[in-house]
Amino acid sequence: VRETGEPVDETELAIEGALRPASLAEFIGQQKVRGQMQLLLDAARIQQRSADHILLSGPPGLGKTTLAMIVAHEVGRPLRMSSGPAIQHAGDLAALLSSLMPGEVLFIDEVHRMARSAEEMLYLAMEDFRIDIMVGKGAGATSIPLDLAPFTLVGATTRSGMLPNPLRDRFGFTAHLEYYEPEELERVIERSAAMLGIAVPPGPRAEIARRSRGTPRIANRLLRRVRDYSIVHGNGRAADAAIVDAALELYDVDAIGLDRLDRAVLDALVRRFRGGPVGLGTLAVTVGEEADTIESVVEPYLVRIGFMGRTPRGRIAMPVAYAHLGVPTVDSVLG
Ligand code: ATP
Repeated sequence: VRETGEPVDETELAIEGALRPASLAEFIGQQKVRGQMQLLLDAARIQQRSADHILLSGPPGLGKTTLAMIVAHEVGRPLRMSSGPAIQHAGDLAALLSSLMPGEVLFIDEVHRMARSAEEMLYLAMEDFRIDIMVGKGAGATSIPLDLAPFTLVGATTRSGMLPNPLRDRFGFTAHLEYYEPEELERVIERSAAMLGIAVPPGPRAEIARRSRGTPRIANRLLRRVRDYSIVHGNGRAADAAIVDAALELYDVDAIGLDRLDRAVLDALVRRFRGGPVGLGTLAVTVGEEADTIESVVEPYLVRIGFMGRTPRGRIAMPVAYAHLGVPTVDSVLG
């Protein structure tokens, strides 16, 4: 579990759930996606049909699960939650699909990690609300068609490139969630602070936002650590600049929001591999982390802030990364 974002225990999960916006109107940022989604849902409502299938892609913690819950809330239907790794056989998916109620919203997180056989079943289900169930083996095998209740699939993925094209094509709407601007994160923090009953003035609020890696989940999580700090070292009802700084320092969040793993990756890239290019696998082994985590969590943000580049020969460090680590670049040493 990374220290940057993912909830670590039941209480944290419960708080994270409580902080989730319940409607599109309450959802902060991602203005374009919100507008597109609103139109899609309104059209479905006017025509009294289930909404088109929706694919949400983007790094963790930007609000994919929240948006899936909002879709269910907006269409006034229950939400069924599953995930790619839980669907390892076509039978798992058949059981799930055949138990859906009409209009139900099915959320499949990490949809790129589903079994191949299930993927193929899903194509037909998405298109025709029908599946073919195979019974028997060998020459005597037959397939029995089964009609499904119409449903809306919301798929989420951190790796949209890993989805096979036929699956991607069957989503009526694909949204790529972008990292949030600091001003948007300030609004997320303001809203969450009010719900958690802690007063954070605009200055310190902006500081937390700047150090949240463009990610609402991290903003909320840092806010909770700030609140902890205020409970222990202050009055528990307010946090000033000193409390914010002390709390963030305690949790190894640096001045621009990079955490330990981000810095480990940068450090390996700059010091160990002299700026690269270095392959993803080698980089992952060096910092002792899964390649998938580096690729879907660490890298997108480092690329986005211009610290890392991706070339056909591997990952490279950019000059700002050297500056951040306080390492002179080869160019500056030479000349
Ligand atoms: P993962 O893919 O890891 O499940 P995710 O992209 O689904 O991540 P969510 O679980 O939806 O992320 O969001 C994480 C937290 O951030 C939630 O607690 C939610 O309250 C908050 N959050 C996300 N987006 C927003 C937003 N636009 N406005 C307010 N809060 C948000």
